[in-house]
Amino acid sequence: MTKHIFVTGGVVSSLGKGLTSASIGCILERRGLRVRMQKLDPYINVDPGTMSPYQHGEVYVLDDGAETDLDLGHYERFTNSPLSKDSNFTSGRIYLKVIEKERQGKYLGGTVQVVPHITDEIKASVRKLAGPDVDVVITELGGTVGDIEGLPFLEAIRQIPLDIGRENCLFIHLTLVPYLKAAKELKTKPTQHSVQQLREIGIQPDVLIVRTERELGRDNAEKIALFCNVEKKAVIEERDKEFSIYEVPLGLLEHRLDDLILKKLGLTAGEPDMEDWEEIVRRIRNPDHEVTVAVVGKYIEHRDAYKSIYEALDHAGLAHRSRVIIKRIEAEELEKADVAQALAGVDGLLVPGGFGKRGVEGKINAVRFARENRIPYFGICLGMQVAVIEYTRNMIDRPNAHSTEFAADTPDPVICLLEDQKQVTAKGGTMRLGAQRCLLQPDSISARAYGSDEVSERHRHRYEFNPVYRDELQAAGLHVMGQSPDGKLAEIVEIPDHPWFVAVQFHPEFKSKPNRPHPLFQGFIEAALERHNSRSAVMA
Ligand code: GLN
Repeated sequence: MTKHIFVTGGVVSSLGKGLTSASIGCILERRGLRVRMQKLDPYINVDPGTMSPYQHGEVYVLDDGAETDLDLGHYERFTNSPLSKDSNFTSGRIYLKVIEKERQGKYLGGTVQVVPHITDEIKASVRKLAGPDVDVVITELGGTVGDIEGLPFLEAIRQIPLDIGRENCLFIHLTLVPYLKAAKELKTKPTQHSVQQLREIGIQPDVLIVRTERELGRDNAEKIALFCNVEKKAVIEERDKEFSIYEVPLGLLEHRLDDLILKKLGLTAGEPDMEDWEEIVRRIRNPDHEVTVAVVGKYIEHRDAYKSIYEALDHAGLAHRSRVIIKRIEAEELEKADVAQALAGVDGLLVPGGFGKRGVEGKINAVRFARENRIPYFGICLGMQVAVIEYTRNMIDRPNAHSTEFAADTPDPVICLLEDQKQVTAKGGTMRLGAQRCLLQPDSISARAYGSDEVSERHRHRYEFNPVYRDELQAAGLHVMGQSPDGKLAEIVEIPDHPWFVAVQFHPEFKSKPNRPHPLFQGFIEAALERHNSRSAVMA
């Protein structure tokens, strides 16, 4: 019988519910359990694919092409749970399914209602992940208890124990215990209120995970236990971590959350094996080297917009025992400011993915600077497209080359829509999405980094490298080193006559883990470290 854990949140948003859920998955998996992870998001968008990064942060793409919440990135980085489109449901997607069924007459004349039709659909989406090869499904509920739009989800998870037995379900509620400077005290009242609200809905949490800046202390834990009707040992402190998010699972283990969960769910399992994870944390705390990488993007002030990119850079740093200092640069600023000054002292440049015209010329200026000054360059998706535009403009003298995304009437559409995208008008879920195979040129930087000449990587874009320019660019020194198996789509371009210039049409950042850094990110950081060391040598 598959067990279910539900993770809800209260008091405020941004408590790190996704990270905590991923960490719970991590510690259970490390005790030998087979875990599946899932997120339910109460908003109406069918998926986050149509939302601006300002609204939502990064859109995380899965192998099957599902465009999902960025918390799924944490799930993949912390666990081995296979993820698919069934790992992320929104209200929009649930309602769409129910309305489609209603239009097909599947409700046989019944009145279609939130309870039971929407709640049944939610329950089916949760139970879908259960199965003979799954010990525990962890379902994280987005939003905060008390949100109007979250109610059908809470109602659905309230009902699940009635269907499958209370002993097979565990409710974990994450709250905040703030420190009030004026009173010089931690305050438990918001937690009490949040649990009260949950209990009004009919959910009694079994475990409370309490986010706090300071040590919770026995008195506060006892008070929370009493007022919230949970066992004392089930009030678990989760203090802010000094160095890194990768410390969270170790902190939860210290508080024996794993034992508590196993006991409450009646599960038995081996001892946790955290050796590699402890090594990751050791390396984060005590790096031997330091390297500075500039990320030039359009949503730079939004911490979550390039989440997986920043994580993948850190992972690659760990592989080289190096701390990666990320210099975030707003692309638009490089349209006016002195590029040399803005990029002074950086050991590598990365231009990530993006949409829309704003900041594109700044990105192009940045690539030019990296190419001419032999600074390691890593272009990802739009970062590949701007590299191709830059090369075409400046190395084969086609000064007005552009992508038709930004200049529909450019005389040299070196990035453009190919036939299969030209007919597409709807925006949701219609890009080139998900994992696709890519064949590598054996002697390329990429093939050496991967140690293979065939890879699979995830995509999320509409525009493509225009094959008409391929030979001319190659003759001028920009080579297509990776392509789709049919040879029609360019996936990787490189400049062989440069220390490290690799630009890819796909998103390698989605497949990097702290214990399995992505080969291209590793190669990029290695090149940046070499530059760093040779510059330090010159200065010494
Ligand atoms: N806007 C570009 C396209 O649609 C790049 C997309 C991306 O960087 N994810 O092709």
